Amino acid sequence: MTIEVMFLGGARQVGRSCVLVKSGGRNIMLDAGVAIGVNEDTFPLEPPDPPDVLLLTHAHLDHAGYAPHVVSKYRTPMIGTPPTQDLSETLNIDYLKLKKEAAPYTFADVMNVRKHAVDMLYKQPMHLGGGVEAVLLRAGHILGSAMVRLKVENHVILYTGDICARNTRTQTMVDLSMSDADTVIIESTYSSPSDQHQSLQKTERDFALAVAETLKEGGVVLVPVFAVGRAQEVMLCLEAYIRSGVIPEAPVFIDGMIRKVNIIYRMYWEHLSDPIKKQIRYTKQNPLESDVFIDVEERKDLAKMKEPMVIISTSGMLEGGPIIYYLKNFGGDPRNLICLTGYQVPGTRGRMLYDGVRELELDGERVRIEAKVGFFEFSAHADYPGLLRFLSAFRNLERVFCVHGEEKKTLNFCERLESIRKAEAYAPCNGETVTL
Ligand SMILES: [Zn+2]
Ligand SMILES: [Zn+2]
Repeated sequence: MTIEVMFLGGARQVGRSCVLVKSGGRNIMLDAGVAIGVNEDTFPLEPPDPPDVLLLTHAHLDHAGYAPHVVSKYRTPMIGTPPTQDLSETLNIDYLKLKKEAAPYTFADVMNVRKHAVDMLYKQPMHLGGGVEAVLLRAGHILGSAMVRLKVENHVILYTGDICARNTRTQTMVDLSMSDADTVIIESTYSSPSDQHQSLQKTERDFALAVAETLKEGGVVLVPVFAVGRAQEVMLCLEAYIRSGVIPEAPVFIDGMIRKVNIIYRMYWEHLSDPIKKQIRYTKQNPLESDVFIDVEERKDLAKMKEPMVIISTSGMLEGGPIIYYLKNFGGDPRNLICLTGYQVPGTRGRMLYDGVRELELDGERVRIEAKVGFFEFSAHADYPGLLRFLSAFRNLERVFCVHGEEKKTLNFCERLESIRKAEAYAPCNGETVTL
């Protein structure tokens, strides 16, 4: 039986992840994401045949932002972990609000997904028909994130989605207990040899000390973050350092979509990392519900406040969201601190700040940024050594497809893999079909 793997998006790019696996007359779609960047095609290519099933690795828009369109058009069941189902609904509603008429679906389409949602738990095999068996494995990236392992006759294909190769505050690292795949479709976000994260402990400590210093000097700390994953990592880090006294007690205000996402993170506390689960069970308290966190009710009230505080808000690259309001109000004071918490895409305001630009256009006004700017890599992606470590667990590896990375990086990564591993490595293009 032949197996065809078709790349409909996310090849040689980060964004609009979408892969179609065709075997035994079944069309299995893995992820259906949108691209967030400005100068690129936003949606994946249409599949040549209707997909029979859509499996989601996780809720981030670059993996699930197109799902309501696929489900509405093809009436496809949408399989994912329960947190992925709920988080993707929240994120897709937000995407819809942002895009308005340019969105590929309506609010009714997002709600319609509920009728087609099929929950799947980690390591519980599910038969998809045509002799294909699917298993979800923990990916360690965000709440509910998974890799998809497809077994077709004597082939095992693993699609990683986004993976994290180290433990973080909220997630236990990627699960390597079923590493029997001969074909791996791997993310390549941080796949160049210079992509090496320092230890998370060191990043957290640097971050905590910078926050502490600013608060002690009477300043305000702005933390622009992604709503899902990064926000909760930063919150738990702050909570721990405030509890241990390293950071002086100060209110930590939460604004933007993070508030809705936090509800889901609290709902699915059993999907959090082992240390957090233990902490919740022993203390009967969820640190994400700590009194130090205050949901913002009136932005104006914060702008008038004179005392030191931390504000965590979307968006992570300062492209929109409430963080713009806070930047306008607090960016001009040299006592204040802006903490960038991860990779900043070129062209975004976050990237400009990172590159040293100190005059930004905010809502049509030019604003001079006098606040200090710090960079703290809270990445939830495997770095280069992490990706190699991950692949080294696969003893039967025959071929690797590198996706979800900048073009040059992905091509270089393939070359390196070919020389390091005896497996074939290939960076497909969008629209390309490979027969196994
Ligand atoms: Zn992701
Ligand atoms: Zn991604």
